[in-house]
Amino acid sequence: MPLCWLISEEGSHKPIPLPHLQTVVLGRGPETTIKDKKCSRQQVELKAECNKGYVKVKQLGLNPTSVDSVVVGQGQEVKMKPGQQLCIVNQLYQYTIQFKEDLTGDRGGAKRPREPASEDREIHGEAPSVKTAKQTEKVCESVHRGGAMKSTGGGESQQESFGHWSQGLKASMQDPKMQVYKDDDVVVIKDKYPKARYHWLVLPWRSIPSLKALREEDCDLVKHMQQVADRMVQQCPDASSLRFRAGYHAIPSMSHVHLHVISQDFDSPCLKNKKHWNSFTTDYFIESQDVIQMLETNGRVTVTEGASELLKRPLRCHVCRREFPTIPALKAHLKTHFPG
Ligand code: AMP
Ligand code: ZN
Repeated sequence: MPLCWLISEEGSHKPIPLPHLQTVVLGRGPETTIKDKKCSRQQVELKAECNKGYVKVKQLGLNPTSVDSVVVGQGQEVKMKPGQQLCIVNQLYQYTIQFKEDLTGDRGGAKRPREPASEDREIHGEAPSVKTAKQTEKVCESVHRGGAMKSTGGGESQQESFGHWSQGLKASMQDPKMQVYKDDDVVVIKDKYPKARYHWLVLPWRSIPSLKALREEDCDLVKHMQQVADRMVQQCPDASSLRFRAGYHAIPSMSHVHLHVISQDFDSPCLKNKKHWNSFTTDYFIESQDVIQMLETNGRVTVTEGASELLKRPLRCHVCRREFPTIPALKAHLKTHFPG
């Protein structure tokens, strides 16, 4: 049975466990650190249905609780899924939920591990401890050609200031040493664990947790993110020899919406497993243009059910479609397409 965690987007405190089918009442108080008098001490009731992958959110307080900007209403209940954003009161105090497999065998799920989420770290190559993450970063830094700046090994301070590793992009985007471009609306950083020779992330300054929170009125911002991505590619010294794609992961592991701009060589030691590979080479990677089109036509972005199954697909070369049994075999083959 997976475990469920409520994660403060602002990193105000550590993730709060939501045990299966147990009601957890939150509001103003030390657990959330909310001091706002407009927030009731018993503002919201949460009940995780871990087998079904959602949390029931009931507004108890008078002032509005919302999920993805839609007000729940006092006494009313809605279902909230990963990728959606809960605001405890008055569109403030943002939270997301995450389900993670219980690898400890602790069925009660009452313990609060320092690193509750291991699966996404596997997806993106982040190592389980700060020390190893720094080592990984060093290896990756030596092959990553995407820009002049060097990244900082800020893992530890991120933990302190943002509470949870999934909030790490918020720390990186504010770090001048990580930034390669910025304007009034967006910032570009180098991906800390690049999965190719060039791998940048374009992030809006405005706090938008994920694709699912985007609305029609965000269209201009998302188009601007795409334009900035195009500019990054144009300015790349290898632009004439490498192909690039710009897109979003269907189910991101990191909070704060981010556009991946990635060269298609996938020549990086940080690309380590099938999940990494399939997250960039199957429909799990949603083209920026498709996101813009969805916003223009439907006013929101829909992600196909079962996107996570795409990560289990066989390893197939994205250039010639040949199948390979292992990542090392695939990587050896990629050298024939991208000798660089
Ligand atoms: P995803 O959430 O699946 O779209 O991917 C998140 C991306 O963020 C991955 O490519 C990671 O390598 C990258 N990443 C993880 N932590 C950091 C960080 N602290 N700073 C910059 N990039 C990061
Ligand atoms: Zn091939």
